[in-house]
Amino acid sequence: MVLATRQSIELAEVAETLNARFAGKSAGQILSDILHGGVAGRPAVLSSFGAEAVVLLKLVADRKPSTPVVFLETRKHFPETLEYVDQVMDSLGMTTLVRVRPDPNQLLAADPDGTLHITDSDQCCYIRKTLPMIGVLKDYDCVLTGRKRFQTDDRQAMQTVEVQNNWLRINPLAEWSQQEIDAFLDDQQLMQHPLVAMGFPSIGCAPCTVPSDNARDGRWAGIDKTECGIHQFGNEDDRASTDGND
Ligand code: SF4
Repeated sequence: MVLATRQSIELAEVAETLNARFAGKSAGQILSDILHGGVAGRPAVLSSFGAEAVVLLKLVADRKPSTPVVFLETRKHFPETLEYVDQVMDSLGMTTLVRVRPDPNQLLAADPDGTLHITDSDQCCYIRKTLPMIGVLKDYDCVLTGRKRFQTDDRQAMQTVEVQNNWLRINPLAEWSQQEIDAFLDDQQLMQHPLVAMGFPSIGCAPCTVPSDNARDGRWAGIDKTECGIHQFGNEDDRASTDGND
């Protein structure tokens, strides 16, 4: 615990330094610093391959197509998403896909009939996303996400560089608006997820995604939940406990 606390303080200092360094820089400049300058250690992209995920992937692919792309395959995705993963990787020339799946024994114990998302969505995300993610993130120093401030109330104060438990989480698109996202998709003629055209503005696991006029209303409709296991780790001890498995 003492080690975890010290790591946390050191990472907070690194995050502060990086936020100062990245102030006023474009997403592309930030990514170049990270992917080529190595200013945040070993990076990986964390991608849902959802509605707008291709924007960050394109910016990364243009700079370093061998960057690892971590995809949490929860076993609850739409078939269209699973096909889209391969199509995007191929179309962008990205070479390193890291598929992360939940532990089958944990699934059997915690969600034997596959309905945990109905009775306890937080626990379902924990088993299918958080735990597998903790397992893979110890191979990296920072994760790049496509999160934007405008997306939810909780994200409005989001900084470009954050400490999430004991990892650096870097959000190069934090300042982008929906208009900028749409313009980039259009200008670059990027392949969007096929369900966008069917009225899904935000796409995650199939049971927890519905068509909607508003991106976040389309996720976990009807319950008070706006973030999934990718962006909500359990507690400060998660990294410490996985360090022991190195
Ligand atoms: S988004 Fe839904 S189905 Fe997917 S892990 Fe979370 S609760 Fe389970």
